Formats: sequence, structure tokens, C-alpha cells
Amino acid sequence: MELLQYPNPALFRRSVDMEVGDPTAADLIKEMTEKLYEWSGIGLAAPQVGILKRVAVIDLREEPRRLYVLINPRIIWRSVETEESGEGCLSVPLLRETIFRHKTITVEYLDENFSPQTIQKAEGLLSFCIQHEIDHMNGHLFIDHLSKSGRSQAIKKFKELQNEFMAQNTAEVAPENETL
Ligand SMILES: [Zn+2]
Repeated sequence: MELLQYPNPALFRRSVDMEVGDPTAADLIKEMTEKLYEWSGIGLAAPQVGILKRVAVIDLREEPRRLYVLINPRIIWRSVETEESGEGCLSVPLLRETIFRHKTITVEYLDENFSPQTIQKAEGLLSFCIQHEIDHMNGHLFIDHLSKSGRSQAIKKFKELQNEFMAQNTAEVAPENETL
């Protein structure tokens, strides 16, 4: 299971519902949960690992700790009121941007046992994170919430951050090589 990063085309495709009782679900969820922790994320959607199904795992790392497994999540109510959300994404590493999202949402979904669940009036990080993961399922990234020029600037910044990161890593490796 590999993490897809911008601009991998799979990140821009719409995922399909997971069939109730899908025999691949348990393994997929287990592996996605392991990767969520390995990659130190708070949320991971299946399309980020190239599987175009509507599944996400979320652990906000807040007490009390809770792992949410969301299969086929659907926002059935959203507040008109929006709120600033400072976000990053495993698939767009290093970049952080402030966007606006619905402040409060009510979500219906199936859990890992395909039992129907509802989260009523989620707010704050949970609300933002669920909206972020559902965006992935619809082929959208958080930067798509920026204005057209804001998005272009963010992509430019992302590329600069990637180049800096690679230059730094090369620099760290170089002295060792010279001693060989
Ligand atoms: Zn993301």
C-alpha cells in the first residue's frame, strides 16, 4: 500500500460506494489504519492509496482516543455557517493552507461491521476532517477550496517546498558519501 501524492491522477477521480459485505473491507481497513499511524496522519481515505472506494479512517489523536471507520459516509445536514480550517494533507506533503469549511455537519455512514451510524452535529477538527476525507472520495483536495489564483499559488509553494525538502535531504547525504 503506497501513498499517492499530488499530482497523481487517481486523486482527482471519484470513488464508488463500497458494497455492503465487501469481503475486501476488513483487510483494507486494517492496512489503512496501520498506514494512518505509520504516516502520522489524522485521516486517510482509500483513494489516497489508489483504491477508489468510499472508505476512510480517522483518529484525531485527541482524548478520549477514538478510531472512526467511515464507509460510504454521507453528509445529511450542514450548517450554513462556515469556519476557518488550517489544513494539510498526506497527499500534498508539507503544504498548509487555511480554507473555509462548513462549521457543523451531521454524517451518516457504515462502520467496519457495515452497521449504520450517525454522527450528530460534528464540529471542529472532526467536522473538518470528515469533510476533507469525503472530498478525497469525490476527487477533490483541500486546495480546491481556495480561489483559482490562491490554488495556483499553493501549487507553486508546494513545488518549492518539495524542492527544498529534496535539496536538504541530498545535502545531508552528501558529506557521508564524500568520506567513502
Ligand atoms: Zn488529505
